[in-house]
Amino acid sequence: AFDVLVVGGGPAGASAAIYAARKGIRVGVVADRFGGQVLDTLGIENFISVKATEGPKLAAGLEQHVRDYEVDIMNLQRAVGVLPAEQQGGLHEVRLASGATLKSRALILATGARWREMNVPGEAEYKTRGVAFCPHCDGPLFKGKRVAVIGGGNSGVEAAIDLAGIVSHVTLLEFGDAMRADAVLQQKLRSLPNVTVILQAQTTEVTGDGQKVNGLRYKDRVSGTEHHIALEGIFVQIGLLPNTDFLKEAVKLSPRGEIEIDERGETSTPGIFAAGDATTVPFKQIIIAMGEGAKASLGAFDYLIRSGR
Ligand code: FAD
Repeated sequence: AFDVLVVGGGPAGASAAIYAARKGIRVGVVADRFGGQVLDTLGIENFISVKATEGPKLAAGLEQHVRDYEVDIMNLQRAVGVLPAEQQGGLHEVRLASGATLKSRALILATGARWREMNVPGEAEYKTRGVAFCPHCDGPLFKGKRVAVIGGGNSGVEAAIDLAGIVSHVTLLEFGDAMRADAVLQQKLRSLPNVTVILQAQTTEVTGDGQKVNGLRYKDRVSGTEHHIALEGIFVQIGLLPNTDFLKEAVKLSPRGEIEIDERGETSTPGIFAAGDATTVPFKQIIIAMGEGAKASLGAFDYLIRSGR
């Protein structure tokens, strides 16, 4: 059995594994795809002390750093269930899709999240070529240009306010007949001179010139008419889905499916910790996920000491 088993090999999981391994205990990492969302990222310019890097390069660095320690890496393995220990200090079990079961005294869940997509023509084709999901990451790339934000919930309206300070114009498209963001955010948004809000708008297509995005098409859901807006960027803000479906029975999840954690990264189940985008931690970023992974790992080590190692 492991002392610490990390589920997930993104920034949070890699960081958790290294912090645990440095304590000289038995550590394993099981990951569906080592590297996580970082593998899908092109330019990264906000990983402090590294001015600019690329996702695949950072992912390779994560794996190399973990491999410098005695960590059992089980890549391309999907966890499908977690059975918490029956008593405090006992062994938790992680069931894999392969049929195998792994046991560990402490678990760190770092399974990340994925952005919800619109599933319209052009979206996949123009990803990283104008279609973006993270305003903190990619906002500065659209300095002085025209962008759209899809979604009028809190994240969409926050993104629109944020982007309005960088880009020349923001069009926010909301599917429903009203934005769902907090009133204070909506008020702030409406006060900005370079923002247009379109309600009842169903995005139907991302258009481009073969190289980059040049606009989007939407349908007015009331009149049924189609419109085209010329612009350079589209930020899709219709939800971030945590990869936590298989954890429902093991730990407490928030209404959005995020793993609830306390200030030491511990979940509602003693000895099971969590970190990164899969949790309730606000703001989903690489540097935050790494910090959270380190924190959960130290929390887990503390748990091991106290539960009689
Ligand atoms: P993830 O990176 O999502 O890793 C989750 C890990 O868990 C993966 O290894 C996955 O395979 C594994 N996993 C999931 N489910 C299971 C399972 N059931 N069993 C086993 N393993 C499982 N952030 C920045 O700071 N700067 C940027 O410039 C930036 N750009 C981005 C661009 C894009 C296109 C995207 C998608 C994200 C970007 N982000 C950026 C966000 C950043 O990538 C995430 O915040 C960060 O990767 C979260 O780390 P994580 O370890 O919590 O989760």
